Amino acid sequence: MFNSLSDRLTATFKNLRGRGRLSEADIDATVREIRRALLDADVAVPVVREFTSAIRERALGAEVSGALNPAQQVVKIVNEELVEILGGATRTLVLAKVPPTVIMLAGLQGAGKTTLAGKLAHALKAQGHTPVLVAADLQRPNAVTQLSVVAERAGVPVFAPHPGNQGAVDLDVVIGDPVGVARDGVAFARDKQHDVVIVDTAGRLGVDAVLMQQAADIRAAINPDEVLFVIDAMIGQDAVATASAFLEGVDFTGVVLSKLDGDARGGAALSVAKVTGRPIMFASTGEKLTDFEVFHPDRMAGRILD
Ligand code: GDP
Repeated sequence: MFNSLSDRLTATFKNLRGRGRLSEADIDATVREIRRALLDADVAVPVVREFTSAIRERALGAEVSGALNPAQQVVKIVNEELVEILGGATRTLVLAKVPPTVIMLAGLQGAGKTTLAGKLAHALKAQGHTPVLVAADLQRPNAVTQLSVVAERAGVPVFAPHPGNQGAVDLDVVIGDPVGVARDGVAFARDKQHDVVIVDTAGRLGVDAVLMQQAADIRAAINPDEVLFVIDAMIGQDAVATASAFLEGVDFTGVVLSKLDGDARGGAALSVAKVTGRPIMFASTGEKLTDFEVFHPDRMAGRILD
């Protein structure tokens, strides 16, 4: 994902090796290189601006004495600032004191929500939880069936209206009432003592007022402990506008970056946490159930600067 950015930054730091004290001109040249590398990686302009001015300020003020030479000092500063824009500390799921923990997924169509539902359920099940998936995406004819397939693969039940309900759970909700499905799904989880309920919701290809309202209505109806905004890391510059629209329309507690296995430039990953003030919690890195990891800002920064 970050290969090109990583190479550019490494080359920039290489130029500093073997130098004694860095002049202001050296620092400015380095910061300019970093700025170009970030912009070419599709990182949002305001994020780049804030990031580079923090680096410039800290590099200018850095003490020369100490164990690190100037080049190492710059790398350390960039690393710390990268961790910062990626959200700082690792943030894990908040589980409800009284089960079930309700997790709602939101995001554009194709972002990877349904896939994530399966991965999350699979990971939680491996930790001893008893998740159930709820198919509240009634927008696409195929979505309910797709979630049922994902649930079966993850070995967890699905709460879904017909016709996608593959016999796993029977119920009579009205098709076309996603808020009702979500609410009944949470009630079902409570009844059957599932300790986690993951609610998949509909998304359009672009930000859409009706679906945004639907997601907001679902949120109001089920009062989730976590709302995870799933975003395709490949969408580049659109990431910030999309994330901001969901923040305003639905609000969310955390971000999941999907398709981090792709070779896109990574700008979404580096912009979304900073712009929305919400932490990146998980990364989806492929189509298999196990292509899923907790997102660690420090490890990601380390990978970028490797
Ligand atoms: P939804 O519309 O948000 O529910 O998105 P889906 O879960 O249906 O995913 C859309 C497409 O992206 C599917 O073909 C998935 O297999 C694929 N996909 C989802 N997550 C990933 C990922 O992390 N990496 C890759 N390479 N593909 C993914």
